[in-house]
Amino acid sequence: PAAHAGTEVRSTCPYCGVGCGVLLTADGQGGLAVRGDPDHPANRGRLCSKGSALAETVGLSGRLRAPVVNGAEAGWDEALQLVADRFRDTIAEHGPDAAAFYVSGQLLTEDYYVANKLMKGFIGSANIDTNSRLCMASSVAGHKRAFGTDTVPGTYEDLEQADLVVLVGSNLAWCHPVLYQRLLAARAERGTKIVVIDPRRTASCDQAEMHLAIAPGGDVPVFNRLLARLYEGGALDKEFLARTNGFDDALRAALTSDPDLAGVPVAQLDAFCDLWMQHDKVVTIYSQGVNQSTSGSDKVNAILNCHLATGRIGTPGCGPFSVTGQPNAMGGREVGGLANMLACHLDLENPDHRSAVREFWGAPSVPDAPGKKAVEMFRAVGDGRIKALWIIHTNPAVTMPDADAVRAAIQGCDFVVVSDITGATDTARLADVLLPASAWAEKDGTVTNSDRTISRQRSVLPAPGTARPDWDILAEVGRRMGWGTAFDYETPAEIFREYAALSGITGQFGRDFDISALSDLDDAGYDALSPARWPLTPTRQGGRFFGDGQFFHPDGKARFIPVTHRPPAARTDRRYPFRLNTGRIRDQWHTMTRTALSPRLSAHLAEPYLDIHPADAAELGVSPADLVQVHSPAGQAILRARITDAQRRGEVFAPMHWTGETAPSARIDALVPGETDPVSGQPESKAAVVRVTRL
Ligand code: SF4
Repeated sequence: PAAHAGTEVRSTCPYCGVGCGVLLTADGQGGLAVRGDPDHPANRGRLCSKGSALAETVGLSGRLRAPVVNGAEAGWDEALQLVADRFRDTIAEHGPDAAAFYVSGQLLTEDYYVANKLMKGFIGSANIDTNSRLCMASSVAGHKRAFGTDTVPGTYEDLEQADLVVLVGSNLAWCHPVLYQRLLAARAERGTKIVVIDPRRTASCDQAEMHLAIAPGGDVPVFNRLLARLYEGGALDKEFLARTNGFDDALRAALTSDPDLAGVPVAQLDAFCDLWMQHDKVVTIYSQGVNQSTSGSDKVNAILNCHLATGRIGTPGCGPFSVTGQPNAMGGREVGGLANMLACHLDLENPDHRSAVREFWGAPSVPDAPGKKAVEMFRAVGDGRIKALWIIHTNPAVTMPDADAVRAAIQGCDFVVVSDITGATDTARLADVLLPASAWAEKDGTVTNSDRTISRQRSVLPAPGTARPDWDILAEVGRRMGWGTAFDYETPAEIFREYAALSGITGQFGRDFDISALSDLDDAGYDALSPARWPLTPTRQGGRFFGDGQFFHPDGKARFIPVTHRPPAARTDRRYPFRLNTGRIRDQWHTMTRTALSPRLSAHLAEPYLDIHPADAAELGVSPADLVQVHSPAGQAILRARITDAQRRGEVFAPMHWTGETAPSARIDALVPGETDPVSGQPESKAAVVRVTRL
């Protein structure tokens, strides 16, 4: 990194899945200047508030500089030998499924690849899951059911080419701000219409033609109504339907769906359906409001059904579009970082896929069944089935639903390793072994953003103390566990080449993900790698999927999924009369480990709060800025009341960023129950039930 001082270096912003390019200039003394990269296809020079404040968030205060073993500073040799020994002993005594890794969409693809290879190929368990399970697992499940693989069909350009953009459960203006800027710029030019479907009136509604303030969980009735109206209005694409299966069943479910369950007047629903039918180019962007639900996969398929029925997919300005939260959620999906996936979009359940990957890795075995998904994983930690746990770059003691129970489970686990940039997190404080990892701008690798563009992150700053990149830490543990050849990596470039070569074997199975053209990059080529969207070879649809009606099920056809409304799992009652929605604010990222270092980011919304409707506040005797206590069956929190008619009556909203370190009484996920979608395993983070009392 020192060699880069004074030179502008291309990298990628780590604060959301838009994946904006940035130009970094280190001053050689730990300082950094950051500007948007005008040549990066995601942002073309734009940055949002978080991206513009990046330089303020790289300070070294609170950074972990050396390994810590049982509370005392230790050397790397001692720490890594202990990790290798304890994992090996646990597996020998209790079997591979007694070990688990819980990783993060903050990891670079190379880190993710090594973690996945170590767990699935060599430890011999599929117990590796990622905090992306909390973010987009329902989209993965919906894609796989409809398309036969987890492929995002469209590109960012589609937002600019659409005539109608529908935002479902997405506050794009705050959570993916540069995409929202691109959308507004296109709207100024071509008059794009915007519809927001969200129980809350968010900043994304400011420029919208229409806001459907649906009931929590009301998405399926909305899109079933749309499918029924598309049928009745003669708006189906019969030619495209010939490339699909299951339409009749999906239509039957839609025609019998009760539109009143959407929670808005049917006339409003029909106005939305009319708008859809009046525009040929429609993009539906959806995010956590859809995914974080016990019926998240069905909600995703309800949306996909409408795009498939009209052939509005995979052509310019058309398609369903899942926007991911984390910088490398997509890279994690591609390397198989989820407990139910294999590398390169191959399937764990498929014996041919397993044997091809096992052979490529030279691995003793690849498990034939999915591992434990996040919520199940921490339950297994809690009841002692998992005895050795490695948590990497994430803070589950705060961010998992039922966070108090998760914290207790980690505390009671026989052996816990945490790799992070700081030891001052609720989770790191519970570790037996704490490993200092390099942070953004200190490490090299790649990330994949929401439209499948692979970009480089590059190091320009020295890591503090003896901190090391995650791939390096994981590989050394692999070597110390006895798998020297398989983990003999010296650079991230070597790992990337291996990963790209592995993707080449997917061709024999007719899969979508193939970046093998990058497998012969030399070190200089890897270093100079420009943003590249897969598929890497040009297609007739301009880098999109499915416009040609070719899908990845064995028969090459798409599948409709019949969906019926299921309300959120927790029911309101007299004890818990309010529905609690949780989410992000504009200027903080996750648990604020880094964004809280920037005074201007922290100035936007400085403390944890609860949004509540004026009529509900009046009934409770709550005035603006009062402190309120919020109880759910799982836990409690104390928050500052903000009274706003952006909330529906009977519903409250609280942001999820504050932790035991920053606001001990405001750990929001302590209120959220561990209910999950039966298909995707994604928890229902937006529909806890609570009562609110004035303090
Ligand atoms: Fe960073 Fe996302 Fe903002 Fe782009 S939109 S600058 S990736 S936080």
